[in-house]
Amino acid sequence: MRLEGSCQCGKVTFSVESETPYPYMFCYCSICRKTSGAVTCNVMGRRATLKVTGAAHLRCYHAVIRKKGRRAARSEGERWFCGLCGSHLYVLDDRWPEGVWPNAAAIDTDLPVPPEHVQLMTRYKPAWVPTVPDGPRFPEYPKLSIAAWHEEHGLTVESPAPRRARSATKKRGRSSRATSIRTRSRARRAGGEPAT
Ligand SMILES: [Zn+2]
Ligand SMILES: [Zn+2]
Repeated sequence: MRLEGSCQCGKVTFSVESETPYPYMFCYCSICRKTSGAVTCNVMGRRATLKVTGAAHLRCYHAVIRKKGRRAARSEGERWFCGLCGSHLYVLDDRWPEGVWPNAAAIDTDLPVPPEHVQLMTRYKPAWVPTVPDGPRFPEYPKLSIAAWHEEHGLTVESPAPRRARSATKKRGRSSRATSIRTRSRARRAGGEPAT
């Protein structure tokens, strides 16, 4: 299905085709909390179909990942915001070049209501942030990727045929078939998505 999104001031709008539009995954990590609000939910779309208007107002932020006993590191994930109003719009990550992860809160299209909620990064949740009673919880990454969860629940949504991965990757200067195969298998792995 086609998802339409926008920032709060309206200068940036975007659309993307998604086979995985259920906003079921609530993240409590501190990066999401500080950049998007107390509970953050991303869905997934196909990057090759992402269209943006007002792109001149976009700003990109690479989160700082802080772990005890380790030097702070820069996340490879790109968080794209409206530079005027600060709305967080979507995440891109070249390690998973076929996807785009819109912030569900920026989407104006009515999203389907998920049958359960998966809550992740619960170990980073401050006590004042409420949880939802249904569905599995994970202290860090969940077992299933967004695509695998949709598949397992029979909720993968029909969308116009994707352009062949090869032409999409070629366009970005990556012609190797190995890249897209590696990307697919990594995306299936637990945590195989740019959650941080
Ligand atoms: Zn804006
Ligand atoms: Zn998070």
